[in-house]
Amino acid sequence: MNPLIYDFDFAELAARIKSWGEPKFRGQQVWDGLYKNLWTKPEEFTNLSKPLRAKMGELLSFEVLKPILIQESKDGDTQKTLFELRDGQRIETVIMHYENVPSSDDEEKFKVRNTVCISTQVGCGMGCKFCATGQMGFKRQLSSGEIVAQVIYAARELQDREEVLTNVVVMGMGEPFHNYETTLEALARLNDKNGFNFGARRFTISTVGLVPMIWKFAEAGLQYNLAISLHASEDELRSSMLPINDKYPINKLLEACRYYVQKTSRKITFEWALIEGVNDTPEQAFILARKLKGLMCHVNAIPLNTTRNFHGRPTGSARAKIFKDALQDSGITCTIREHRGIDIQAGCGQLASRE
Ligand code: SAH
Ligand code: SF4
Repeated sequence: MNPLIYDFDFAELAARIKSWGEPKFRGQQVWDGLYKNLWTKPEEFTNLSKPLRAKMGELLSFEVLKPILIQESKDGDTQKTLFELRDGQRIETVIMHYENVPSSDDEEKFKVRNTVCISTQVGCGMGCKFCATGQMGFKRQLSSGEIVAQVIYAARELQDREEVLTNVVVMGMGEPFHNYETTLEALARLNDKNGFNFGARRFTISTVGLVPMIWKFAEAGLQYNLAISLHASEDELRSSMLPINDKYPINKLLEACRYYVQKTSRKITFEWALIEGVNDTPEQAFILARKLKGLMCHVNAIPLNTTRNFHGRPTGSARAKIFKDALQDSGITCTIREHRGIDIQAGCGQLASRE
């Protein structure tokens, strides 16, 4: 199989093209074509000679992701694409459109936000009980190019609609910190100032809480946002939902989180899937607030998306508000996120194909 063009970083790509007897500046031309013009086929590189275009097509692979199913939510704001990879495996990518994003959102205030939710693995080995990807098990790691290509695809789709991509969330299929180096390579490629130039603070990486990797990530001093899937404030309950908690219990996890905030001065987000009668009581909110005390953070709560093999039910809006108020009264900010693309099974953690 030919190497994937998106798997190369700039130096590797430039060296490859130079080895074909091309002048040095061709490397930057191809890089610009890929990451500034979003060209996805050799034919589109009209600034290159025909023989060079032909050579690129012969020796490199551009067809990373083959869209095999595209579904749009009824309101048209969410699009889920099921892709086939070169080995026949399948992943999903979701593009979400938000209007009038509240100005309480930090950093940059976009009136309109277009977020792509990308996958880092085929399946996932973490086995979280309520997660459709977890229910599939682990199939394989994605390469950096397969991760990058999802973002390029979204940027291109949006460009066709005269919109721009504003955010990337690493919250699709898979556990990014179980594919740590590759995921960070992919984000670095997209962050490259001489290429796609997507600001670090517009990326959010979500992890189930692989503690050693959080320490490592803190040390790396990167500007990406970090989100942690917490979902429970006591070990017994968290372990029953997220088996990884047996290995990395809440106190160890929060210790790593404190270190991250101290080291980077960046706020951390905790994710909480609200499951009726399981983790949505004011009492649990108070325990959570006590544990998060003094930590610069925010809680993102989202009513559970139901999945085939998990019998929990989503918390209703009245109950969710009580949970949120209990947290806020204890000094922890919290937002209840709306459901997204429910009618097309594109909610977080529902990214498992029905095919
Ligand atoms: N593996 C990473 C990122 C992918 S999951 C992680 O676990 O953080 C993205 C988010 O969706 C996580 O917070 C995850 O816990 C949550 N999630 C998974 N299944 C869900 C479901 N059925 N309903 C609501 N949230 C879910
Ligand atoms: Fe994997 Fe995240 Fe799903 Fe857990 S919630 S199984 S870590 S994708």
